[in-house]
Amino acid sequence: MLEAVSKLIEIQRLDNLIADAEDKLAGIPDYLAEAQSELETAQKEFDVFKEEYGKDLGSKTELETFYEENKAQLEKAQKKLPEVKNNKEYEAVLKEMDTLKKNVNTAEYQLLELNDSVDKFKSEDDNVIKKLEDAKVKNEECLKRRDEENSELTSELAKNKEKRIEAIKNVKKSLLAKYDRVRHARNNLAVVRVEDETCTGCCIKVPPQLYVEVVKDKELFQCPNCQRFLYYRSEEADA
Ligand SMILES: [Zn+2]
Repeated sequence: MLEAVSKLIEIQRLDNLIADAEDKLAGIPDYLAEAQSELETAQKEFDVFKEEYGKDLGSKTELETFYEENKAQLEKAQKKLPEVKNNKEYEAVLKEMDTLKKNVNTAEYQLLELNDSVDKFKSEDDNVIKKLEDAKVKNEECLKRRDEENSELTSELAKNKEKRIEAIKNVKKSLLAKYDRVRHARNNLAVVRVEDETCTGCCIKVPPQLYVEVVKDKELFQCPNCQRFLYYRSEEADA
C-alpha cells in the first residue's frame, strides 16, 4: 500500500480512538446525572425553605417590636388618664387607648399564628439540612466513581495522543493540514475505503477512471464529492 495512505489510515485510527475517549470523558454517566439532579432538587428545597423560614423570623421580630411598643404606649396612656383635666382630653386619651388595645390584641393573635409557623419550620429544619447534606455526599461519591472509571480512559487517551504525535512526524505538513481540514469538515472521518466503486464515506459512486487510479494505489486521491482520502483494499487482502 502507498506509504502516505497507510500513514493516514494509522492517523485516522488514532483520531477515532482519541475522539471516542474524549466523547466518553465529556459525557455524564447516568448515575452521576441522577445524583446531580437530586442535589439540585435538594438545594432548591433548602433555599426555598430557608427563605420562607427567614421571612417568618423577620416578621416575628417586627411584630414583637410592634407589640411591645403598643403595649408600652397603652400603659403610658393608662397612667395619663387620672391626670386628665377636661372631657375633651379624656375622650382623646380613651380613643388612643382603644386603638392601642386593638393593636396589641391583633399583634398577640398574629404572633400566635406566626409562632406556630416558626415552630413548624424549626422542626423540619434538621431534615431539610440532612437531605441536602446526603445529596452532597452522594454526589461526591458519584464524582469519585466517575473519576476512577475515567482514569483508565484518561491514560489511554494520553497514550494515543503521544502515538499520534509520533505518527504525524513523517507526514508532509501540507498533506496533514489537508487531512485535518477534511476530518474537521467530515465528522472526524477523512480516510475511507472504496468498495464496489463507491466512496464509503459519502456512499456516492466515484468516477470509473478515478476508481481505476485508486485501485492502482500509486497516488493519493480524494473523493470528488466529500473530499475524503480514498484507498482500496481487495476482499482477498482482508481475508
Ligand atoms: Zn465521498
